[in-house]
Amino acid sequence: MKPASGKSESLQRLPPWLKRRIPAGGQFQHTHHAIGSLGIETICTNARCPNIGECWSKGTATVLILGNICTRNCGFCSVATGRPLPPDKSEPQRVAELAKRLNLKYIVITSVDRDDLPDGGAGQFTDVINEVRRRIADMHFELLVPDFRDCQDSAINILSQALPFVFGHNVETVPSLYSKARPGGNYERSLLLLKKAKDKWPDIQTKSSIMLGLGETDDEVEQVLKDLRNAGCDRIAIGQYLQPSGCSLEVVEYIEPGKFELWRKLAAELGFSWVMSGPFVRSSYHAEEPPKELR
Ligand code: SF4
Repeated sequence: MKPASGKSESLQRLPPWLKRRIPAGGQFQHTHHAIGSLGIETICTNARCPNIGECWSKGTATVLILGNICTRNCGFCSVATGRPLPPDKSEPQRVAELAKRLNLKYIVITSVDRDDLPDGGAGQFTDVINEVRRRIADMHFELLVPDFRDCQDSAINILSQALPFVFGHNVETVPSLYSKARPGGNYERSLLLLKKAKDKWPDIQTKSSIMLGLGETDDEVEQVLKDLRNAGCDRIAIGQYLQPSGCSLEVVEYIEPGKFELWRKLAAELGFSWVMSGPFVRSSYHAEEPPKELR
């Protein structure tokens, strides 16, 4: 009999390779307290990331700037949609203080989509980076930015004031699934942003990420990898989509670990200098690991 949710029984239960232990321990609590006491948002909690136990127990988190309300409504994401608040002028100092307290050497900074702001939020990224760098001169930065819908060129110009960093923008899924997974996005626009960034900053590593298990075909995934390489993208993260909330898109397929290994090999063959591929991989997962470590 088919389950009430419409999901097949094999999708109702997590396969064994997707079971993780509940987070606990002193360093986890330290990270949790530092984030909470400074009023910092993270994508780890807002996206209900399954790696939170591992990452926070290592003292790593991905900072979500510009609030926790997004102007878009992606089907895979659990971040709330609505009208966000104006950028918070205290945010750069608070993020810098978090980086100090967690003794970070590498920080990943992302944001919600801010289509309401003329610069898409690029100015706040720049202010946060420069303040963290002022406090911790040898910090390494990785950005995971929105597609800067109507302001790609000006956003890139603004971000030029905060170099260097790894420049990340996620295509998230294959183009045929954009209408249901990323209705406010545009696949070509995302590729264009990555290409513009690479053209503007040839020495900067660019990065993207794709989730599997939303109903894409293998041919489509392979084409996305090729499209990203054609856009000059250097780094790729490939992971399993997991439904973060009851309102989010359902998982269509759990991809077996061996399949991720095949994607890892193909991505390496296509010339990505940094590849992370596995069921729990997210764009910021082990982001601090250096390139040429092809896993
Ligand atoms: S993978 Fe990224 S988003 Fe997930 S817990 Fe780790 S740092 Fe946070």
